Amino acid sequence: MGPLNKKESKKELIYFKVDAGRYFDKKDFLSWINKRVTKTISYFDMFEYNSRILIAVNGDVRSVVLLYLLSKIEKKFPRAKMAIAYIDEGISGYSDRKLSIVKKLATKFDLPLHVVRFKDSFGFTVDTLANHYENVCEICKILKRWLLNDLAYKIGYDRIALGRTLEDVAFEILMYFVRNKLNALLIYPFTPERLHKKLVPIVKPLMFLKKKEIILFAHLQNLPFSTSICPYFLKSMEKQILQEMYRLEEKYPGMLFGLLNFAQSFFVNTKEKPILRECKICGYPSSDTLCEAHQLLEHIRTLMQY
Ligand SMILES: [Zn+2]
Repeated sequence: MGPLNKKESKKELIYFKVDAGRYFDKKDFLSWINKRVTKTISYFDMFEYNSRILIAVNGDVRSVVLLYLLSKIEKKFPRAKMAIAYIDEGISGYSDRKLSIVKKLATKFDLPLHVVRFKDSFGFTVDTLANHYENVCEICKILKRWLLNDLAYKIGYDRIALGRTLEDVAFEILMYFVRNKLNALLIYPFTPERLHKKLVPIVKPLMFLKKKEIILFAHLQNLPFSTSICPYFLKSMEKQILQEMYRLEEKYPGMLFGLLNFAQSFFVNTKEKPILRECKICGYPSSDTLCEAHQLLEHIRTLMQY
């Protein structure tokens, strides 16, 4: 940590941001988070004055902070509409517990809540999937994204807001590269372009904040959040890679910002256009005859024989 200047030494300091070389007291920190998120939203033109925003909330700290900040920011835009989406994966001892927190949040923030269940939509739960697949995290993520898009499209919302932190977004970008999924990267640029009528743009207003900053903010604002972790995530490859990213960012601050900036200049400079064929089952954009979710669902149906 750097030496304190005179002004800093008089305050009760709560956070040192290594990559900015700056100390914060409580008031500065809260206002810095607010500004950071507002700036991210305006820099990428994430919302219009009358956007209909579906916020994916699962009760974890990131989704609760996102909900809190968007509710605050959007108060200035009376024609904007917001609602909460909760995807129930059917994971016993986990999904139900989160739903009860999300219900309380919907009441606290006075927002409509839409609950979509794996069981109702696909006929199976993630618990059942886990009997057949070793790593269910990635499958669950793809199916959840499909469900969120489907819900937003059907109820006429034009943005899906996700509580993804710097580490999460860096992880996603890295995985697109590692798995050679250029099309998946291209269809979700940081700016919310409507590339296809059935593809609802995704925005990530917390993308320039670290998870530890989000947690500190939630504590300082006394926001209620769930600390339970998905049992399948605990043994996933995703967890191992994310932990490695937290460690690297601590050791070499600024590394993950570099990755995001690289992706951003890629979006701006690339001449590549996403392939937007339509899935023959759902009609949603896809690079193949079936979208990623329906390719998986076909595989799951064959494997589970239902
Ligand atoms: Zn499909």
